This record gives sequence, C-alpha cells and structure tokens, in this order.
Amino acid sequence: MIFCDTSYCDVSQYLDSLKSYEKKYAGKHEVKTDDLSLKLAYYVALSHYPELQQVHVKLRLKPLPTTMQAQPQWDFLLHTRKNRAYQIYVNINEGYTGITYKDLSFNSLVGWIGHEMAHITEYVEKDNRELVSFIASYVLDKNELRRTEHKADKLTIQHGLGTQLLEGVNFFHRNRKVKNSYREKNKKYYLSPEEIVADINQMCTQK
Ligand SMILES: [Zn+2]
Repeated sequence: MIFCDTSYCDVSQYLDSLKSYEKKYAGKHEVKTDDLSLKLAYYVALSHYPELQQVHVKLRLKPLPTTMQAQPQWDFLLHTRKNRAYQIYVNINEGYTGITYKDLSFNSLVGWIGHEMAHITEYVEKDNRELVSFIASYVLDKNELRRTEHKADKLTIQHGLGTQLLEGVNFFHRNRKVKNSYREKNKKYYLSPEEIVADINQMCTQK
C-alpha cells in the first residue's frame, strides 16, 4: 500500500515555499511561466516524484490540441539517456479543447501535471531505440495509446496524487466549457472517475 495525499492542495499553502523550490531544482527544472500558481503546482507535483528530481525537465506554455503534453526534447537522439531533456507543454489556447490550464483549480493542476510526470518516468527508463518505438506505437496504435494513458493515470495514483487527478478528471467530464469532441475522444483513452476511485481504494492507505 502507498500513502495517498488526500488533502486538498490550495495555492496559499505553498506561496512561502516558492523560493526554496526554485533553489532546490535550479538547473534541472525550468518552469517557463510567470504564472505563480502554475509554477507552484509544478513543484508540488514534482515533490511526489523523487525519481525525477535530478532529471532535466522544462515546462512551457504553447497552443496545443490537448491540455498538456509530455515528451522528450526533440534532439533526444543526439544525447544518451542520461543527458536527455524532457518537455511538458501546457495549453494556452482554448480553440481546440474549449479550455486552457487556467480553467483548472490548483488542486487539479497538481494532478494533471502529475499525470504528465508519470509519462516522463516511463521515458527515463528507455534507451533511445526503445523510446523511438514507444513513441511510434503511441502515435500509430490506438490500443497502445490507451494502454499508455491508463498506465500514466495509475502511476499518478501510485505517486500519491489520485485525489488530485480525480478532481481534474471530474472537472473534465462535467465542465461545459470542455468541447464535446475533446471529451469524447479522451474518454476512450483515460481512466474514468469510477476507475480512479476504485484504484485509489485498492492502492492507497491513508494516514
Ligand atoms: Zn497522458
């Protein structure tokens, strides 16, 4: 059993910690935004992923057809696994999806970023050749896409961010701003709120 943090993350709890987070992760984690709550949500999620603390990750805002996306930096083939960098892109244009990250509560943002970090924990385990075939099957094979997204959701829960993930997913399913086409597409590939609750109950112990 793992410990799940079921407390509701509120940005005000973390404001005093920003400087120490920035110092702790300087040179490894670049959170390229002036948005304080996005920055803090990133660091709070990261605090649940000890295995990523020494990994080079950059977060950037960008128009995307989805809310967030994690990938190895484009030049990864020029580097060894150990020297690889990763990107988390965060959507700033609601054209495709109906929402941007700004529609998410701080608590949901932590869970959502936690899901992206779960993908990175999978990437870091793979050498370049394995990573190329992993990405190719993710792009080309819908079953593989579904398997990968389910696994990322489960890893998020295993890292103690199940209730934060659940809030983001509930928002996604219920909020009218979310475009129906985006919602329907995603339903096929991610865990449902009921599945997340079942996994939390199965995997987590509470203090
Ligand atoms: Zn994902």
